[in-house]
Amino acid sequence: ADIYAAARAAGRQPVSFEIFPPKGDLTLEAAHEVAAELADLLPDFVSVTYSAGGSGNRQATADVAAMIHDDFDIPTVAHLTCLGATEESISRAIDDLKRKGIASVLALRGDRTADAPAAEGPFRFAKDLVMRLADEGFCVGAAAYPEGHIECTDFRASVAHLKQKQDAGACFFVTQLFFDNSYYYRFREAADAAGIAVPIACGVMPFLGKAQIQRMVFMCGASLPSPIIKLLAKYEDDPGSLRAAGIEYACAQLTDLQQHGADGLHVYTMNQPDIARACAGALRASWRPAGEAAVRGAGEPAGGRA
Ligand code: FAD
Repeated sequence: ADIYAAARAAGRQPVSFEIFPPKGDLTLEAAHEVAAELADLLPDFVSVTYSAGGSGNRQATADVAAMIHDDFDIPTVAHLTCLGATEESISRAIDDLKRKGIASVLALRGDRTADAPAAEGPFRFAKDLVMRLADEGFCVGAAAYPEGHIECTDFRASVAHLKQKQDAGACFFVTQLFFDNSYYYRFREAADAAGIAVPIACGVMPFLGKAQIQRMVFMCGASLPSPIIKLLAKYEDDPGSLRAAGIEYACAQLTDLQQHGADGLHVYTMNQPDIARACAGALRASWRPAGEAAVRGAGEPAGGRA
C-alpha cells in the first residue's frame, strides 16, 4: 500500500513482476538467477506465487520472497492460498512468513482441484484469509477479476465480493489477466461506484503460444479479442514469431493502461526475464528512477521485507 501511495505522489504507477518459486525442474539456484535479472530492472516489488497442489513446495514461496529481498533489496509479496486450509495450517504458514520476515501477502482462495473440490471450513473465501492476515499485522493484497471470476456469472456480485475483501482489510488488489483493456476500465469504474478505494493493479500476461493461451483462457475465462485470434492464425506455424507478437501485444496493452492512469502494472513474467525487459522498455515513464530508494511496506520489521 505504501508503494502505491509513494509512486502516486511521485506521479507514476508502480510496476511489479510476478514469478513462481522452484517446482519441477526449477531449482532455487535457477530462481535466484531469474530474480537477479528481474532485480536489475528495479521493479517496485516482486510477488511470488504459491503452489497449493502437489507440484510445488509450499515453503518455497516464503524462501524465494525472502531471498529476493535479502539478496537484491527488492520489496516482495508472498502469495498464500487457503482452499482446504485449517486454523492450524494457516497458523503454521503465518509463523513461517513471520520467521522469514515477510510483511506483505497476497491472500487467495486458490483454484478448486480434485483434492479440494469445494470451499469449506474456516477459510471458505479469500476474504477469510485476508481478515486473518490483516489481524496478524500483514499488509494484505487480494485478487480482482475485471471480467468476473469464472465461478461467478454475476458481474455485480463479483464487485461486491471484492468490496468484502477490502472491508476485511485488503489494501491493494492485483487483477487476473485480461487481453482487452476496456474490461479493466469498466471494472475500475464499477469498483469506484461500490466504494473500493484501494489500488487495483493490472495483471498483464503475454501470450507465448497457442497451447498456453488456450489453457489460460479455459482456466480463468478471459475473453480473446479478435486481434489475438488473428495473430494466432497468422503465426500458427511459426512459434517464434507468435511469442514475439504476444510480448509486443502485452507491451501495447501496458502502455495503454499507463496512459489511462491505471493504478499499477503487474507483469506475469512466467520466470522469463526477456518478458520483463520488454515491458520495462515499454513502460520507461513509470519506472522507479535508479536513485529512488525502494519503498518499505507498512508494518515491516526493521531490515525486513515490504
Ligand atoms: P475468492 O475471492 O474467495 O473468490 C472465489 C469465488 O468465490 C469467486 O467466484 C467469488 O465471486 C466467490 N465469492 C467470494 N466471496 C463470496 C461470498 N461472500 N459469497 C459467495 N461467493 C463468494 N492461485 C494459486 O493457487 N496460487 C497463486 O499464487 C495465485 N496467485 C494469483 C494471483 C492473482 C493476481 C490472481 C488474480 C489469481 C491468483 N491465483 C493463484 C488464482 C486464484 O487462487 C483463483 O482465481 C481462485 O479461483 C480464486 O481465488 P480468490 O482469492 O479470488 O477467491
